[in-house]
Amino acid sequence: MTNETLDAVGGASRGAERFDHWIDGWGAAPVGGAYRPTTSPVDRSVSFEIADGDGRDVDAAAVAASSARHAWAATSTAERSDLLRAVGTAVRENLDGLVEAEIAETGKLVAHARAEMLSCADYFEYYAAVVRTMHGETIDQGPGQHTYTRHEPFGVVGIIAPWNGPLNQASRGIAPALAAGNTVIVKPSEFTSAATLRFARLASAAGLPHGVLNVVTGTGPAAGAALVRHDAVRKVTFTGSVPTGQVIAGIAAERVIPLTLELGGKSPLVVFGDADLDRAALAAATTTLMNSGQVCSATTRLIVERSAQDALLGRVSAILEQKQPGVDFGPIITEPQFEKVLGFFESAAEAGATALTGGACYRQGAAASGRYIAPTVYKDVTPDMRIAREEIFGPVLVSLPFDGFDEAITLANDTEYGLAAAVWTGDVARGLRAAHLIEAGQVAVNGGVMTQETPFGGYKRSGYGREKGAAAVYEYTQVKTVSLGLAPQEL
Ligand code: NAD
Repeated sequence: MTNETLDAVGGASRGAERFDHWIDGWGAAPVGGAYRPTTSPVDRSVSFEIADGDGRDVDAAAVAASSARHAWAATSTAERSDLLRAVGTAVRENLDGLVEAEIAETGKLVAHARAEMLSCADYFEYYAAVVRTMHGETIDQGPGQHTYTRHEPFGVVGIIAPWNGPLNQASRGIAPALAAGNTVIVKPSEFTSAATLRFARLASAAGLPHGVLNVVTGTGPAAGAALVRHDAVRKVTFTGSVPTGQVIAGIAAERVIPLTLELGGKSPLVVFGDADLDRAALAAATTTLMNSGQVCSATTRLIVERSAQDALLGRVSAILEQKQPGVDFGPIITEPQFEKVLGFFESAAEAGATALTGGACYRQGAAASGRYIAPTVYKDVTPDMRIAREEIFGPVLVSLPFDGFDEAITLANDTEYGLAAAVWTGDVARGLRAAHLIEAGQVAVNGGVMTQETPFGGYKRSGYGREKGAAAVYEYTQVKTVSLGLAPQEL
């Protein structure tokens, strides 16, 4: 990494490692010649120079992906399975380089960055297995017909990823899209592109044919929008914010192409008074610390039975107060997001919420040079406050007390989002009743765990379509029905 002065041309810095696009199995310099610096949230130094692409680079990637698509779709599922498994192995064998790139741009803790890269490997290994199970169906119309369905790939799939889990979110789409026989163009976040570019290079070296996986970097309005608008792109998976998702949905509607939208959340963590409060407190602290709350499915609305509120919040605050920046939690990844979280603190103070712990960034010590925010717990929150309604995407937990089961469910569902939820209770049947009534795509009861195998996606404004799980591979296919007449031709 370097802190050297930015170059006047293209905002690039001298000395930082430079990354080109990855198109047709090779590094490709941006047509416009410009590179953008990405920076470290730990000390704001320049990390890398990333190709600042636009529609012309998307055109080049689309040519490569289109040229490769027929041959890729014609491979057997066994061949694709082998190649996907090889990509997973390549990730495991080259973990350090990926982790280094990820940390340089996100400031994540080493353990967290490693976990993300292992998750990437797991997506490829999981879909390597799933692709061997894909099948259509036969439809019985009587003895004179033989009718069956085929799941065919769309062709070229565009995948647009956010900055909070850059390679994890991208590979969640890349692996099933490739498994289903599509070629892919990825547009990572302009804040975090390096790990995805290194990954693409590894995937090619592992045997993915040229043009099957391409990465074009650049800003959303320039590179991202061009990808969604491109005629060659027949399906898009977008992970990011609601406003960007709305723009992309507009373009996809105009073009009449299918879209998977993985958007934001404001997920509830419901704790009944009979729950194991130590475990519930640990869960609340963990969701606050994990990637410093920059997780779409973070359960940061703590909906707690009034009689247990003080005991639970005392435990959560005690855990969080012991945590150290850079050791137990990372920084806020982007500068705009850092300012946004600080803005929420102002709004909370004006609205009359009480910060039991946290409520500020670090202004002294080593953490002051980075974008670190103290883990924060708010009490005296009402459901109408901004901190209770809007996705903060920082290490901020807000507590909302309830009296009785019905009020717990009402509060849990009092949000425009519906991505995830957690429930803690000593009464398992009540936990499952709550899980069935909460409007969210995933609900974990008493520490239930979600993995590659478990479908994931939003209710309400958290999006539509499902990723993860075996069925997600079919989100990258279109169904064709073929019918054959068996009766002898009669004149
Ligand atoms: P964002 O919407 O700002 O950007 C996401 C991606 O879209 C980036 O690659 C960006 O360059 C691109 N983009 C921006 N404008 C575009 C446009 N006009 N056309 C095409 N592409 C465009 O989101 P972000 O700030 O990077 O990520 C944070 C958000 O993502 C949060 O709301 C979070 O909840 C959400 N998220 C959701 C999930 C999920 O699985 N549901 C996972 C992670 C993050």
